[in-house]
Parts: sequence; structure tokens; C-alpha cells
Amino acid sequence: MTVAGALREGRSRLFYAEVDTPLLDATILLCEAVGTTKERLLAALPEAVAEEHYRRYRELLDRRSAGMPVSYLRGRKEFFSLEFAVDPRVLVPRPDTEVLVEEALRLVSDHPGLRRVHDACTGSGCVAIALKHSRPDLEVSASDLEPQVRAVFAANARRILGGGCEAAGDCGPAPIPFTLSDLLAGLAGPFDLITANPPYLSDREVEDLVKIGWPEPLRALRGGPDGTDLLAALIRQAPERLSRPGFLLLEAAPAQMPCLRALLAQTGFEEVAVVPDLAGRERVVRGRLV
Ligand code: GLN
Repeated sequence: MTVAGALREGRSRLFYAEVDTPLLDATILLCEAVGTTKERLLAALPEAVAEEHYRRYRELLDRRSAGMPVSYLRGRKEFFSLEFAVDPRVLVPRPDTEVLVEEALRLVSDHPGLRRVHDACTGSGCVAIALKHSRPDLEVSASDLEPQVRAVFAANARRILGGGCEAAGDCGPAPIPFTLSDLLAGLAGPFDLITANPPYLSDREVEDLVKIGWPEPLRALRGGPDGTDLLAALIRQAPERLSRPGFLLLEAAPAQMPCLRALLAQTGFEEVAVVPDLAGRERVVRGRLV
């Protein structure tokens, strides 16, 4: 089997499995099976694929056809130009969430007094680690409710930022302290900025994902009847843990923004504003306590 033949086969199989981007996914999976880059693979279209690589590729196609995301198959996902390890214990970082990081970086650069940043519902750690990577001078901490997230978070923090491994205690302090906490309940603060990409899908949206056997952890997506349960709880919990001035920055769905704006204002936040994502949809909401 040649590289070109393998790609044709993969494209066709994934097309019939209703994968949105069959050729792209086949190309990425063949690179993964062969252990090469896309550029090298495409320069070798007439060449033969080794038997062992072809077998591995077909296994990957089977799992992709069954609905497993490419990021879980590869065990990694690029976010904010950094490579994060991912597996079904954590949500795959989304490009939309880069807006949360960009907005946090803008705030800390516009307000030099903001130094202590906490990222709640951190999962793979993409937000906390990208922030610390861009601004090593910040005191970044992170938390999540799920004990199973800790190992993924710690491995990402260690690989991307260097430094110690919390659990082993054998290689210095962890670059980002991690706390198991139900939203902000287990944290004392004070923080100058709190970021979070909490679960915010509605029950209905989650039901649809259950029906198709969605492989991501649904607890990381389930946000209650209209998806705002955890967002609202974070807004209620934040004032006790924020310094003055202090900022809260939350990722949410565009339809939730009017409700969140109102809730932030009622809770005493000022300068409430919404930031759009790359597609122009309202994705991040910000409030300031003074
Ligand atoms: N944006 C994600 C999605 O649409 C939801 C992320 C979340 O609930 N935090 O799948």
C-alpha cells in the first residue's frame, strides 16, 4: 500500500463514517501511525507504507470512525501554540478558549498590579499553563473538582513549563499549584484575577451528546438546565476571593451573555463587558470589582 493509497482509503472510510474532515483526519492519523510530519508524508505519496505502520493506521481509522476525536487518538492538542497532552479524562482544549487567555493577558498587561491569577475548572490546564508560559512572572494557581484531572494537569505543567512534579516531590516545586476544589469553594484567595471555562452546555445539549456516545467527560460540559448553573455559582463565589480591584473572566455560550451580564452587575461587578471569539460570537464575559 502506498501513502497515496492509504490516504484515499482513509478518506473514503472516514467520509462514510460521517467525519466532517475525512482527508485531513486521514492525513493526521497516517502521520501519527508512521511517526512523521504532514510535509514529509505529502512529499512521499508514491512510496510504500510499512506493514506495521499500515496496521496501526487502520486501527486509528477504526477508532476515528467510531467517533473518537483525533486529539484523543494522538494524545495531544495544540492550544495557544503549545502542545497539551489530552486523554478522555479531560476536555480537549478548544480554539475559542484562546480568547479567554488573550483577554487575561491583556488585563494583566493593562493593570500591572494584577499578579495573582487563579484558573478554576482547569482540566488539561490549557488556560493556566498558557498564561504562566506567556507571563512567568505571574503567580498562577489552578483548581478542578475532578481528582482524575490532576495527573493530566501536572504532566502538562511539567512538560510545558518545566519544574517539579507535585505528587512525586522529587524534582522541586510545581510550577503551578493545583488544588482539588468544587469551583472556588476550597480556595481562600485573594486573587487579582479569576479565570474559568466551566461546564456550560445546557442539559438538552448534553442529552444530544449522550445519544451519540460523545467521548469527552460530560461532567466537564454539563452546566444545568440552561447551562449557567456553574457560571452563576462562580459569580456568587468570586467576590469573597477577589482583591479590590479584581477581575473575573468567564467563558460561556453567546446566548448566556445577557443573563451573565445581569448577574455580574447584581453581584457588584462593574465595567461588565463581553469579548467575541474568532468567529465573532460572544464568548468571554468580564467584570471588575472595585
Ligand atoms: N465550547 C464547548 C463546546 O461547545 C463547551 C465548553 C464548556 O462547557 N466549557 O463543546
